[in-house]
Amino acid sequence: MNADLQRLIELQRLDSIVLDAQRRVADEPARRLALDARLETAHQHVTTAKEQLALSQAARRDIEKDLAVQQGRLSKYRDQLMAVKTNVEYQAMQKEIAFAEAEVKTFEDRILEFMLAGDELTAAVKKAEAELAAEQKAVEADKKALIAEMDEFKKVIGETNGLRADVIQSLDPKVLAMFQLVGSRKNGIAVAEARDGICTICHVRLRPQVFNTVRRGDDILQCDSCNRILYFVPAAVATATPTAP
Ligand SMILES: [Zn+2]
Repeated sequence: MNADLQRLIELQRLDSIVLDAQRRVADEPARRLALDARLETAHQHVTTAKEQLALSQAARRDIEKDLAVQQGRLSKYRDQLMAVKTNVEYQAMQKEIAFAEAEVKTFEDRILEFMLAGDELTAAVKKAEAELAAEQKAVEADKKALIAEMDEFKKVIGETNGLRADVIQSLDPKVLAMFQLVGSRKNGIAVAEARDGICTICHVRLRPQVFNTVRRGDDILQCDSCNRILYFVPAAVATATPTAP
């Protein structure tokens, strides 16, 4: 095979490694934001649970005040009952007492309901806090893993760029310029394998003469359709690649 064509195939392989690693590195801020969002959600759950508990406790305190007022009235009425002179007054006072007793009973029932709800809301706060603690640990671990992953990608980019520089140096500048021009227009993929008479990337059938030339591997030819630089992998080489037993 043409030596430059062979170098281009290697350069494309290295470029694709760098491009992929760069995309992964570019994903880092979004992945960090996603981790922060997980933490924020867990914090929000705790805040909401605490707010609901506080609202419930405030409402209970209001009813406790109402109860105290009503209990005060009741004991006042009972004192006054002792002092009434007439039967009419006595009956009127009895009526007031019955009303106040009913109110006291209603408030006591509601306080009991709030106490039960309070237990559930307190449990919900504890559960949300436990989930937050677990999420903090998980997110911390994920952030560490993310840093390690990014370090690895950056290392790969550095090493691969070193190898690229060697390949680029040995390439005919004109061939390199063609490779770079096509790559810049084709999302970083400048070479395409020709197989069974077809460009395997744009899937357009090549002219027989083009395919035959590409098969010989002596010249650098571009696909008529996508302009990518074509290469051919002989069957012997293809079968030589290790496969699973
Ligand atoms: Zn093509």
